[in-house]
Amino acid sequence: PRDLAAIRDGLEGASGITAALAGLDLPAELLLARDALAARPLGLAGLLSRQLADDLPLMARDGGFIARGAHDELDELRSLRDESRQVVAAMQVRYGEETGVRSLKIRHNNVLGYFIEVTQQNADALTGSDAARQRFIHRQTLANAMRFTTVELADMESRIANAAGSAIAIELDLYETMRVACIEAADSLRAVAEAVAVLDVSAGLAELAEIEGYCRPQVDATARFRIVAGRHPVVEQALRRQASHPFVANDCDLSPAAGSSADESGALWLLTGPNMGGKSTFLRQNALIAVMAQAGSFVPAGSAEIGIVDRLFSRVGASDDLARGRSTFMVEMVETAAILNQATERSLVILDEIGRGTATFDGLSIAWAAIEYLHEKNRCRTLFATHFHELTALSARLARLANVTMRVKEWNGDVVFLHEVAKGAADRSYGVQVARLAGLPDQVVARARDVLARLEDQGRSERKPIIDDLPLFSAEVRQASPKPAAADPVAGHVLAALDKLAPDEMTPLAALEALYSLKALATNKD
Ligand code: ATP
Repeated sequence: PRDLAAIRDGLEGASGITAALAGLDLPAELLLARDALAARPLGLAGLLSRQLADDLPLMARDGGFIARGAHDELDELRSLRDESRQVVAAMQVRYGEETGVRSLKIRHNNVLGYFIEVTQQNADALTGSDAARQRFIHRQTLANAMRFTTVELADMESRIANAAGSAIAIELDLYETMRVACIEAADSLRAVAEAVAVLDVSAGLAELAEIEGYCRPQVDATARFRIVAGRHPVVEQALRRQASHPFVANDCDLSPAAGSSADESGALWLLTGPNMGGKSTFLRQNALIAVMAQAGSFVPAGSAEIGIVDRLFSRVGASDDLARGRSTFMVEMVETAAILNQATERSLVILDEIGRGTATFDGLSIAWAAIEYLHEKNRCRTLFATHFHELTALSARLARLANVTMRVKEWNGDVVFLHEVAKGAADRSYGVQVARLAGLPDQVVARARDVLARLEDQGRSERKPIIDDLPLFSAEVRQASPKPAAADPVAGHVLAALDKLAPDEMTPLAALEALYSLKALATNKD
């Protein structure tokens, strides 16, 4: 019965919505939805609202769900059933008066059903004469009481019992007709439900866009991704609810460089910055904006141009899958592998820290190689957040990689997070300051500062700029620039000589001679 009521209420709601939408100039999708609502099964709606009671039991089996006034015979049977108490009470008073036994009671139990009970002292009044004996039929004698019935009482009892049974039978019949009517209207009920869903989503998104000041994104087939003053739809509201600092809007531009129509690949932003600076928030807000835009929603930004993203990949947060035999680091690597193997030039990738779950150098190396791969092979629009500041040196070699950082201010030895994304690279993560804010014991913080200072000193004296030691993607780079400028004059001569050779036109002997003279040129070097 409650399910039927849900259909009744849904149809009533649909009627309200149809009335509210009448005569409005709506976009095509909403017009279709309105038409589906207008075609709702009116007969079923009427039947359900006429027949169903306000308060409904969970199960049909015990009845009690058909409204009063829906069925005349049912109403009569019900009043008979419900009024039995008054009828019995009236009968008890009458019998008491007729027999002169004021204490006479009519009771009920499961063995005898309804019966008349008097004390032993008063039994004479019911058994003392033939007339009385004919009227009051003896049923049971107890130590202190005697029990009787009458034809009239037995009649009433069977009428009461029948009334309840017949009432339930009628209710179940009516239930069946409603059920069948619903099944017959299933298709149009489904269409109504779908239409309500379309209207609900549209109205929800429209309201959100209006209240939160979202903009209409431009979605096209380019590889652009240009968000001006983007916000995180959830963090923004959470900060407001907490009456905390306001959300700082940030731009993000991963579009192909201006004028690079031949090379349509988007950019890779390498985001460094302090812990708690807002890196994860920035990554996620841009991914969410892409999802919202492609779902047809307005987006939390001043303006947004989004070239359709064929797939969105994200690797964020630390999780493990121990039950399936994967450690935290393994999960991180599996996810990274999926991205590197699958992302296309039209994908959007957000990578929030990779290589943190292993030894520093392993992690740094993996992150390093992954960035090169993303830049050279996947060539997808990418946001990559990291605390490996060494990676920022890659911008010198990778044309479409740009360094951005979350700005902070240092003030009286504390960090102040500005949550602003700016061009450039961070030189430190302020991890120790953040650890202090989190409540690490003072001793630990002091010791950490000390260790950090030493490590940094050591690092400064020993660290070589590794960017120069690691030719990245040497194969690809050589292809891209086949003639590296030779700083060495001898190498210059060898290259010049090589350049003049035309192998296709040489005899084997001439080729051998050329090889000797090249060798000679090179050995002259010494
Ligand atoms: P970590 O490196 O420690 O993981 P993170 O740089 O990724 O930190 P987030 O987790 O993104 O930092 O942000 C930390 C907190 O800063 C957020 O919970 C949020 O309250 C606040 N925050 C982030 N971005 C903004 C923003 N643009 N404006 C205002 N507050 C922000």
